[in-house]
Amino acid sequence: MTNKGHNYMESNSLKVYIRTYGCQMNEYDSEIMAGLLENSGYHLTDNPAEAGVILLNTCYVREKVKHKIYSRLGELKKLKEEKPELILGLCGCLVQKEPEEVLRRAPYLDFILGTSNFYQLPEVLEDISGNHNRESQSGDKYARVVRVEEDRAIPEGMPKLRKRRFSAFVSIMRGCNNFCSYCNVPYVRGREVSRPCKDILREIEELAQKGYKEVTLLGQNVNSYGKESREKVDFADLLGFVDQIEGLRRIRFTTSHPKDLSDKLLEKMAELDKVCEHLHLPVQSGSNKILSRMKRGYTREHYQNLVDKLRQAIPEIALTTDIIVGFPGEEEKDFQDTLELVETVGFDGAFTFCYSPLKGTEAAQLEERIPEETSGQRLRRLIELQQKILLRKNEFLVGKEVEIMVEKISKKSSDELQGRTRTNKMVVFEGRKELIGNIISVKIVASGCWALRGEVSSC
Ligand code: SF4
Repeated sequence: MTNKGHNYMESNSLKVYIRTYGCQMNEYDSEIMAGLLENSGYHLTDNPAEAGVILLNTCYVREKVKHKIYSRLGELKKLKEEKPELILGLCGCLVQKEPEEVLRRAPYLDFILGTSNFYQLPEVLEDISGNHNRESQSGDKYARVVRVEEDRAIPEGMPKLRKRRFSAFVSIMRGCNNFCSYCNVPYVRGREVSRPCKDILREIEELAQKGYKEVTLLGQNVNSYGKESREKVDFADLLGFVDQIEGLRRIRFTTSHPKDLSDKLLEKMAELDKVCEHLHLPVQSGSNKILSRMKRGYTREHYQNLVDKLRQAIPEIALTTDIIVGFPGEEEKDFQDTLELVETVGFDGAFTFCYSPLKGTEAAQLEERIPEETSGQRLRRLIELQQKILLRKNEFLVGKEVEIMVEKISKKSSDELQGRTRTNKMVVFEGRKELIGNIISVKIVASGCWALRGEVSSC
């Protein structure tokens, strides 16, 4: 890849601003795009005003996010009017779901790339640069580049510009086969495709050699890793291989679908030293009626049974979850079932949302919509309960020694650092910044809802 097409613009044409919306998978894709761009001579910038290329890597998990993205595009349109040479692009889930709508609402975009096309970014920019050159010479309007395909063969071995120095995301699969009634991931990311085991291991070995101590294995449903491939390596086997990589200290993974968490996987989690004692296990609702309407494929009894087995095998495990309230048809007694489950399980964290219909999903057609006010009240009650549980659980840690990996300088004070326990709890403490990247022991001296306060005991 060369930069020959860029000399028509000012020097900041080589500066790229990437804004990522949504999940860790999108962050991972942005890291690949950043790596590819860097290899092609571009530089990333945090300042959109100085960028020659602005790219939004989009998400479409909720209508609210979509509105946010369109409103951001409206702001960028003004910037493009002031600076016509600015190259403006959109990629990711929103583009994959509604490319025509995106182009209708933002005709000033220079390019759009679907979820299987993001890695073509450097060549697309090169094409556009050539078009800009031709336009400036001939006065003709240049063509916009549209690449939205469903072929999901993402090449291996692409460079990545990682955001973090000691902890990295590693995608192990793409897509989802589950078709939960409220979700559009299977439509925007396609069906499940697992990466070959050897490529995943190579990526993690390289990370470990560079000093990375922690990896988070990513997939929409990691528990079904390998099911569609001929390799005969399932997720439990993969964890076993990753655990053997020298230099790596911690393994995390997300997301785990409760219906696919096998006994074999559970045993592996308990057995492997590097697998952290934290599991994000989205329950979504505590009501069997609502779980069935959501097409989740399990019951609350199955979920509760899983939790019991997990706690038996790994007593110190922290469990976090996702919960949607106000799903169509949710009556007060269904919501009570959710509250009861939350209380019984005692989650260490919960991402809680009010249901909002997503265009193109099955649930968007369901009747018995819950009024916003009712959903809002339920959400508040749920948050209140979850906070009480969390405070109780965190208080229990005061006085205990825990292992943390020091991640960065605390957002609140430059004299303080922050790190995470193996159970994924944030700990803030006073310490030298040389500790960043180390795994140390701290004593918990105070607790709160969102973070714990610690004192360094040993390095
Ligand atoms: S498991 Fe369900 S909620 Fe999760 S990505 Fe797949 S369809 Fe969406």
